[in-house]
Amino acid sequence: MILTIKPFGTVDPTILAQLQQELTSFGTVRLAPGASVPDSFVRRKRSGYVQVQASDFEKALAEERGDRVLAVTDVDLFDRGLNFVFGHATVHDRFAVISIARFGDDGRDKLVERATKTAIHELGHTLGLYHDDANPDCVMHFSEKIEDTDRKGRAFCAKCAPAAAFTLSRLGT
Ligand SMILES: [Zn+2]
Ligand SMILES: [Zn+2]
Repeated sequence: MILTIKPFGTVDPTILAQLQQELTSFGTVRLAPGASVPDSFVRRKRSGYVQVQASDFEKALAEERGDRVLAVTDVDLFDRGLNFVFGHATVHDRFAVISIARFGDDGRDKLVERATKTAIHELGHTLGLYHDDANPDCVMHFSEKIEDTDRKGRAFCAKCAPAAAFTLSRLGT
């Protein structure tokens, strides 16, 4: 498949290049020109962060080409009912978003690793996968805190992998 990465806000281009490299197992990964976070997105202030409503990215990504489109932003994200989220996607849709706002405290390598796992998790949703509550090592396990992300792997487990592979095969990867 063709995966488009679309940066929003201020994201280090070398981090985007590394993420692009890490996601090549999904197919052809292209990098779209960056954009600012649209003023129309819902914002709120929470514990010192300005947060943007994660689902608002779906609208902004609709015009982007690609089988799947992944927004990468430096702004903190929230979803209904949650204090914050590391990323967001809807099952069986083309769009996913991840935020690097909470990934950077332990050095650059850790940031890229966390961004990669979060991107794979959100892309997994777009391939039809739900959360894997039973397996804390599976990339589809929900991350409530950064320790959850650091503990889990970047792979779909044996239970999750077939569904992801099936959707990917239909997309020509
Ligand atoms: Zn999820
Ligand atoms: Zn799994």
